[in-house]
Amino acid sequence: MKRVLVTGGAGFIGSHLCEKLIQEKNRVICVDNLGSGRKANLKNIINNPYFVFIKRDIIRPFKIPGKIDFVYHLASYASPPYYQKHSIHTLMTNSLGTYNILELARQKRARFLITSTSEAYGDPLVHPQREDYWGNVNPVGIRSCYDEAKRFGEALTMEYVRKHGLSAVIIRIFNTYGPRLQKDDGRVISNFINQCLAGRPVTIYGSGNQTRSFCYVSDQVAGLMLAMKSGKTAGEVINIGNPDEFTVKEAAHIIKKLTGSKSGIVYRPLPQDDPARRRPDIRKAKKLLNWKPAVKLEEGLVKTISWFKNVR
Ligand code: UDP
Repeated sequence: MKRVLVTGGAGFIGSHLCEKLIQEKNRVICVDNLGSGRKANLKNIINNPYFVFIKRDIIRPFKIPGKIDFVYHLASYASPPYYQKHSIHTLMTNSLGTYNILELARQKRARFLITSTSEAYGDPLVHPQREDYWGNVNPVGIRSCYDEAKRFGEALTMEYVRKHGLSAVIIRIFNTYGPRLQKDDGRVISNFINQCLAGRPVTIYGSGNQTRSFCYVSDQVAGLMLAMKSGKTAGEVINIGNPDEFTVKEAAHIIKKLTGSKSGIVYRPLPQDDPARRRPDIRKAKKLLNWKPAVKLEEGLVKTISWFKNVR
């Protein structure tokens, strides 16, 4: 039986990953400071004998006795309002924290997967974004606490590959949604669903012509697990996301339709450095992992909306 460490395991993606790992008969150690994660996200597995939850902030080094075979390193604030509110903590989590987890993985000779982000491409000038594009990031803007910290994490991971022979893979996660998105995290999908369900106006920032490509959480988790298991991914950077691209305005209309909401639309200023277009090129994931997303936006939104209805 494999022993797996998941940092950020009480978060949105992390909790789905932990559940899937338990289903696949792994022992799972979940470390989370509950900064944006929630213990409620773990309710299906918290009493499972093969699951352990440890409340801890990875900024400070810690030890875990016994072997660890796989490390999934997800811990970080990830939604723009949250990481901007906790900007210094976000920088430290993705630098010091990532260093601590890399050291742990090195000592345990574990395979290491770090979740980086499509924000590594900044406001991209190349479209769609392929892994070998270096990006267009404002190093001192309000998003840099996340973008640059994640880029540092990628650089540090690659040095562990080169200097220590660590078997590590970097995944650039593109916008992901699904049940357990936090209600107040300020992201577009959660905001629009909550606004529609409450009959409040839907807040479009800027013109609404900016685009995003939304990946359903089960597809995301499947991609992460395949990347971890694959023998071909050491030292590789791989995009995992859904290439179906929508404008924010289109997303608002789809969510209004699916919720049957009569909410109006209001326009708010576009936040600084908000990327104009974002869409992953996923040919590398298809080739290396034989992975592609299976869930279409409307199908995933129906499940997400029904989850939000139940938690309200
Ligand atoms: N957005 C919006 N209304 C909202 C929340 C977000 O129009 O209530 C826009 C935001 O400006 C961005 C896109 O939706 O262009 C996606 O934002 P999100 O915060 O979900 O994540 P990002 O992809 O920017 O990291």
